Amino acid sequence: MNGQLTAAWLLSGPVLFTALLCCGVLLLAHWLLRQRSFPGRESFIVLHVASLWWLLAAGLEMAVQDADSKVFWASMAWPGIVLTPTFWAVFLWQYVNSVRRPLPRRAVLALTLVPGLIWAMALSNPWHGLFYGAGTAPLSAQAGAPIRYQHGPLFYLAAAYVYLFMAFCMGVVIRAAALSKGVYRRHYLAFVLVTALPWLANLGYVGFGWMLFGFDPTPFTFTFTLVAFAWLIIGVRLFDLLPVARHLLLEALLDPVLVVDPHRRVVEANPAALKLAGLGEGWQGRRLLDWPVFGAELQCLLVEQGGEQENRLLTLSDPARYFEVRVRTIERVTHSGTFDIGRMLYLRDVTQRHLGELELAEALALSEERLRTISSLHEQLQAQALRDPLTGLYNRRYLDEFFARELARARRDGTPLALALIDLDHFKQLNDAYGHLEGDDVLKAVAQYLCSNTRGSDAVFRFGGEEFLLILPGADVQEARQRLEGLCQGLAAQPLATRGGVRRVTLSAGLAVLPEQGLELDPLLGAADLALYRAKAAGRNRVCVSPARAPTYPGAEAPQPIKG
Ligand code: GH3
Ligand code: MG
Ligand code: MG
Repeated sequence: MNGQLTAAWLLSGPVLFTALLCCGVLLLAHWLLRQRSFPGRESFIVLHVASLWWLLAAGLEMAVQDADSKVFWASMAWPGIVLTPTFWAVFLWQYVNSVRRPLPRRAVLALTLVPGLIWAMALSNPWHGLFYGAGTAPLSAQAGAPIRYQHGPLFYLAAAYVYLFMAFCMGVVIRAAALSKGVYRRHYLAFVLVTALPWLANLGYVGFGWMLFGFDPTPFTFTFTLVAFAWLIIGVRLFDLLPVARHLLLEALLDPVLVVDPHRRVVEANPAALKLAGLGEGWQGRRLLDWPVFGAELQCLLVEQGGEQENRLLTLSDPARYFEVRVRTIERVTHSGTFDIGRMLYLRDVTQRHLGELELAEALALSEERLRTISSLHEQLQAQALRDPLTGLYNRRYLDEFFARELARARRDGTPLALALIDLDHFKQLNDAYGHLEGDDVLKAVAQYLCSNTRGSDAVFRFGGEEFLLILPGADVQEARQRLEGLCQGLAAQPLATRGGVRRVTLSAGLAVLPEQGLELDPLLGAADLALYRAKAAGRNRVCVSPARAPTYPGAEAPQPIKG
């Protein structure tokens, strides 16, 4: 080895250029040492040292003149060649995952084991020839000519190991670029580009024999990569700038934001939060519970269970203010697990919206109430439209609907249905004797009497002035006649109270029955009308049944339809 160290040297242009690059890397490492910490800084500096070693060995390989010495310095480069991608991978992993803790000593030792082994294999090549083959020789007979290496199996083994780390590096930065957004994504995309450069140079060298100064171009591209990375990290100051920008944003935010630790002590609060609480200085570390205005309420909301996505409502009185509280858990991910290190509380002022919602709900309730009133009035009107205002009985409007229903039922069940036309006797005289008002009272009392003395399934209609229509579903002619005679006799015996005193009145009724006297309303009414005429003619205060056959009015004596 002494021979190699004392061999002839030549400081050619490329050698000087490499030496210059070495100085550059050295200065970069020195400058980095004085910069603010960033994730993976230690690995980044080791990476510089490894590259420096590689460049130095490359420079020496170029400087020495004889072939053996060149191969010796090529072998000496291997710790740098292997450690560069190794620590590059470590640095990138630490950087994108924001790992600020230096790599444990054991891990460092483990990562230097294989590079050491490869170094030993390269140095011991003269004995086994498995790293560089027998065909390894200068490119030309000229003194100091670069060596064309013939690679042996151990070389490819070492290359595979190096590629493994380079592939890992690409994977890490591509993943980081894919997972990040905006300015972070552009930052990591730049990482991907810069990371790809030494890959290309090395693949070109191993696969296509690309060379720089008759030498592997990888260490030179690495130098560029180091400068590019240093600029991306320190120059752009992305990770310094963004926290500042975010802090400024927090300060400018009109909504209150607080950060509490696991003991619910406030460790951060923006000016909006301080303003809401009316606090000035000395609030740091104060328990949330002790915060004025909203501390206790906010603490209650925090204690309540609820998913992170769920927004809770904070209500403050005097003046009434409403805040939508969004709680985010702040976690720290370490290799031994994920830990909650606090909560961020974001209070969005929703007073205007909430008051609007309350007003809207009130208006909605009011309009619902109005709608209910309108519906009930409508129902009342509908009911009134079907009733006679004086007696409260159904009027003729309801007759068609009621009769159609009962007729359908009677046909379906094959049951009879009786229909009676009732006319009060000598009502005109009563009116004339006691006046219309008392006449009205009598009409009301008769209606009351008829309703009270019929069944629930029967229906009583006011058919005209002092005429009533009775429908008795299910009643055949005998039953109907019997019940009507009962009504007739009952009314004759019934004293009717009026405003002028007790009056009495009798009724005459004409009866027609379905199906004997007709199958529709009109023929039945006609038959009942005729029977009523007979009852009047026969002396009043009685019930007459229409003949079974379809009724025909007797020629000259044909009664006119009853008028009210
Ligand atoms: P008849 O026994 O022949 O039926 O004799 P009547 O007097 O009842 O005969 P008519 O049908 O001619 O008279 C009916 C009277 O009923 C005439 C009218 O003054 C009276 N009337 C009709 N509607 C009302 C009413 O709403 N109130 C009062 N008080 N009287 C009415
Ligand atoms: Mg009458
Ligand atoms: Mg009449």
